[in-house]
Amino acid sequence: MEDKISSSSSSPDWSSKKVCVVGAGLAGLAAARELRQEGLDVTVLEQSSGVGGQWLFDTATDGGDPLGMAGVHSSIYASLRLNSPREIGGFSDFPFRPAAGGDARRYPVHGELLRYIRDVCDAFGLMDAVRLNTTVLRVAMAPPRRDGSLRWTVRSKHDGEVEMEEVFDAVVVATGHYSQPRLPSIDGMDTWRRRQLHSHSYRVPDSIHGEVVVIVGCSVSGAELALELRRVAKEVHLSAKSTGGVMASAMSKMLARYANLHLHPQIEHLCDDGRAVFVDGSCVVADTVIYCTGYSYSFPFLETEGKVTVDDNRVGPLFEHVFPPALAPSLSFVGIPAKVILPRFFEAQARWVAQVLSGRRTLPPPEEMLRAVEEYNRAKEAAGVPKRRTHDLLLDLEYCDEYGERTCGFPRMEQWKKELILSSISDMRDDIETFRDDYHDSDLVSDGLRLNGWTPLAPRPQEKDDADEEGGVPGERRRG
Ligand SMILES: Cc1cc2nc3c(=O)[nH]c(=O)nc-3n(C[C@H](O)[C@H](O)[C@H](O)COP(=O)(O)OP(=O)(O)OC[C@H]3O[C@@H](n4cnc5c(N)ncnc54)[C@H](O)[C@@H]3O)c2cc1C
Repeated sequence: MEDKISSSSSSPDWSSKKVCVVGAGLAGLAAARELRQEGLDVTVLEQSSGVGGQWLFDTATDGGDPLGMAGVHSSIYASLRLNSPREIGGFSDFPFRPAAGGDARRYPVHGELLRYIRDVCDAFGLMDAVRLNTTVLRVAMAPPRRDGSLRWTVRSKHDGEVEMEEVFDAVVVATGHYSQPRLPSIDGMDTWRRRQLHSHSYRVPDSIHGEVVVIVGCSVSGAELALELRRVAKEVHLSAKSTGGVMASAMSKMLARYANLHLHPQIEHLCDDGRAVFVDGSCVVADTVIYCTGYSYSFPFLETEGKVTVDDNRVGPLFEHVFPPALAPSLSFVGIPAKVILPRFFEAQARWVAQVLSGRRTLPPPEEMLRAVEEYNRAKEAAGVPKRRTHDLLLDLEYCDEYGERTCGFPRMEQWKKELILSSISDMRDDIETFRDDYHDSDLVSDGLRLNGWTPLAPRPQEKDDADEEGGVPGERRRG
């Protein structure tokens, strides 16, 4: 399904039209930059006091509601280091280079990425377009123009007080999808009186000292929290749906290394006396249960008269994960796919949106877009992919290259970068505890790094167990 570069003047003239971007994380900033490059009038509305989205570390958690429904945006915890190599983690024309005095490692602490995002804003003058402390409350269709083209009324609240309504010709939704916890349904969890929290609300290990902890979910965040908490907790019990899967090798290494780490099957129920009973009949008396069970897509501000819905984490219908056929191109989404290389993939999506809005590229007719979405969903279902993984692109680098090229002529990724990504993933799956500091680059990767100014690489740390040295946002210290 290809859309076309428009050479005629048949498409509406979008230049000088007003576009609202909701969210100033990587996706929203990518959108702002591309839209501006196409000459559009861009306003970015951001609820936080700064740009960066997830990377704007927030010591606040959802306090009274540790299961995370109280509206804190960032899910980043204090000691978090990136799990993607910095050499592939920047915008295509603005590499994520180490800052003087910053964390120069390949997988730096989270504050280094926030610093980079702020540098991007400075370098491209994006802050002129961003309105901070501005929460979007409602996005709804406004009366269309005479030519029938859609417009949107955006209601927002500034500094928690002043509400205002503005009309835009287009809205780009870029609000992320790692803020609304997705929880399992476990018998007894509603009445269990001990502590339960979602990883979204975890920041520091202090309060877990000496406790028996059960971590539900054994993918990357579950494994990483287990490794952090085993240092302070009495026992850490991981509860997994299955013991196979891509993290099996990493998991068995962790379990072999640490006597206070244990693996169990799923929890069958939680008892009033504090026991977590697993489906094999075994149990532990736990002080805390932490759910590392992922997130849900949520757009509480968006009113589309049912034209865009979220059904078991499928946002749709969305043509190529971006355009709802019935509302395109005036409504679009940047940043829906998961397991893609960031911000590169969002940059490609943003470029496509900008080219379509500027009239340089046209979309297929709505019915054709809808058919393409249905075909995509059917193919996923036929391949046994659950609905909730509709937007999971599985780090399929060839698909991502083809997507960028097809939608907006985005350049393909260099081979050395692909090799670096693939070896990074394979190292992580092999040993999640060591992959960030213990890696070996192939000749192709080493040459790519050298030719692109990435050598000499940052010194590797002397000590593997360096979490106490790690901080987050520059100028902030870990609590405790
Ligand atoms: C624990 C964790 C670790 C991760 N580690 C990595 C990693 O190592 N490497 C990697 O590439 N990715 C990682 N990610 C993925 C990460 O989410 C992306 O890198 C990236 O931050 C997504 O950008 P985004 O702009 O789509 O969303 P976000 O960063 O979430 O930004 C969305 C923005 O929208 C704003 N917003 C939301 N609602 C409104 C509203 N109503 N009004 C106004 N503004 C609003 C938010 O405040 C926020 O600023 C990680 C994610 C998590 C949760």
